[in-house]
Amino acid sequence: MAKIAINLTTASIQKEEVIVGIDLGTTNSLVAYMHPEDHVPIAINDLGLGTIVPSVVHFSSAGEVLVGDAAKEYLLTDPANTIYSVKRLLGKSYQDLGNHKDSFGYKVIDDNSEGLVKIRVQDKFYSPIELSAEILKELRARAEHALKTPVNRAVITVPAYFNDSQRQATRDAGKLAGLEVLRIVNEPTAASLAYGIGLDPNEEKTIAVYDLGGGTFDISILKIHQGIFEVLSTHGDTYLGGDDMDREILEFWTRQNRLLADLVALDPNAAQALRLKAEEAKKALSQQEKFKAELNGIELKLDRHTFDTLITPIIDRTMASCQMALKDAGLQPEQMDTVIMVGGSTRVPLVYQTVSDFFGKPAHNDLNPDEVVSLGAAIQADVLAGNRKDILLLDVTPLTLGIETMGGLMDSIIPRNSKIPTKAGRQYTTSVDGQVNMKISVYQGERDLVKENRKLAEFDLRGIPAMPAGFPKVDVNFILNADGILKVEAVELRSGVRQEVEVKPQYGLTDEQVEQMLMDSITHAREDVSTRMVIEARTTAEQMLYQVERFVEKNGEHLSPEEIELTRQNVQRLREVLPTGDKDTILKAVDVLEEQTSPFAERVMQISIKKAMTGKKIE
Ligand code: ADP
Ligand code: MG
Repeated sequence: MAKIAINLTTASIQKEEVIVGIDLGTTNSLVAYMHPEDHVPIAINDLGLGTIVPSVVHFSSAGEVLVGDAAKEYLLTDPANTIYSVKRLLGKSYQDLGNHKDSFGYKVIDDNSEGLVKIRVQDKFYSPIELSAEILKELRARAEHALKTPVNRAVITVPAYFNDSQRQATRDAGKLAGLEVLRIVNEPTAASLAYGIGLDPNEEKTIAVYDLGGGTFDISILKIHQGIFEVLSTHGDTYLGGDDMDREILEFWTRQNRLLADLVALDPNAAQALRLKAEEAKKALSQQEKFKAELNGIELKLDRHTFDTLITPIIDRTMASCQMALKDAGLQPEQMDTVIMVGGSTRVPLVYQTVSDFFGKPAHNDLNPDEVVSLGAAIQADVLAGNRKDILLLDVTPLTLGIETMGGLMDSIIPRNSKIPTKAGRQYTTSVDGQVNMKISVYQGERDLVKENRKLAEFDLRGIPAMPAGFPKVDVNFILNADGILKVEAVELRSGVRQEVEVKPQYGLTDEQVEQMLMDSITHAREDVSTRMVIEARTTAEQMLYQVERFVEKNGEHLSPEEIELTRQNVQRLREVLPTGDKDTILKAVDVLEEQTSPFAERVMQISIKKAMTGKKIE
């Protein structure tokens, strides 16, 4: 499996393929690797473009995809086709977005309010997974180009608060970008590793990681013992960061000058130019006391003291989060052994000072705060590559464990490489009205279709009370103990009916077979992901058809003959494309039917129908 590659940058032979570490950020992403001779992690700077790749994807009308600084330029000129902050949407449903539904410059589709969101760009539908994959592909290409060696494996970081579905989405994005994701690592854990914390199995420490990025703030309290990072608590604000500082400066300047206010109100290009000037001022004030520039002949001035006053409310909000995180962990600020600063916005001197004062000790900020997460990911990658014999690798499960969902898809519950013992679960619902049994089929393997994986067990959860489709709540939990025994339990929460089985996933499986299963998953990764997406589109379509037809049957008298006829045509169109159409064709037909029929439900006050249309279903 291991290929011998020659690294032309360092003129050395690399016996092992490099495993890169990736920080897939909301605002910026980076890729880093471990230098084979110097044994230091380095953020990759390909072609002198810088180490920071803005997490922005642009689709041209000709179908060309641009990522990074080149894409960022289109944020103003072509916002509908320029996707930013996609990480906020990863693994989320339209409902999850809450008040922020309309805050994107591009079109977020509401087709199935509990299903995962999709984004429409021109005539195509993209999932946040596909968009994140575009960013990962760019990082992979830059790494391959700079290191002159193939890059097929990676460690990717995620926020500590990411749930199962967001972690799975990140893995899938990696897969789609042609990367085998060896591990998903928490961003604060990676930052600690970059500072060398947690590498010594004998050390015991409690640390706080303060991460203020472009649009998000996270505080994590971690406990490290025997090389294990335990997240004691996390807090934060997913809409707070350096962008808010830029906005404060912009508003300050427009308050100062009517001419500037008018200019910005009338000309979006000027508004964007002013926003960039504001960011420039902010960055400059991290080094110097005063900033001066001009825009269209208007002078722009800002000094450090004024800036500090402007951003104090922002910093106060982050400190309130720190209080909450400590409270949840049951600890006092002084009890932190180490405080680590992460994220570009921690370069602001007042941020550094406030955080250090709060915790009563100077925070670590010697490493570049933009790069620190990617550097830690590269260290983790190096550990997984087996290059650090001094660090013990924890017991992990070698293959993913999951269950079958609609369309024969594998829904992974415990991802491969998870530390054991571990416990994970997910909630499901029924797909048909009055369904009283649910079949739970347990599989092991990395493929997206269960038929390609290994079946471990199957059982029926019986006695679910008859309810409309989508109403029952079935919790499926996987408990994998330290001996590798898996207990699967299913409980219907409304009635309390339960059922469980125990299996030994590794039983009768040789190392060679495990290796073969992993190899197969890599060779088939791309086709697997596209098959999955078509099946998911079909499932959405089938649910939609089922609900619409049932609705028309029940409530036909509230609809006009024209409405019924149009519905019939749209249903027929969807039925036509369903068996052979590609994902985009199917989703487009779903979208048409959805847009046409969604007013019906409200009209007849059948809100419950809408509810029944949603939720992840097992057949
Ligand atoms: P994310 O983790 O959200 O992707 P980053 O950690 O890359 O984001 O942080 C990006 C933010 O850091 C931007 O708002 C940027 O303006 C800010 N930033 C970068 N350099 C500086 C600096 N020297 N002083 C103040 N803010 C900075
Ligand atoms: Mg970050």
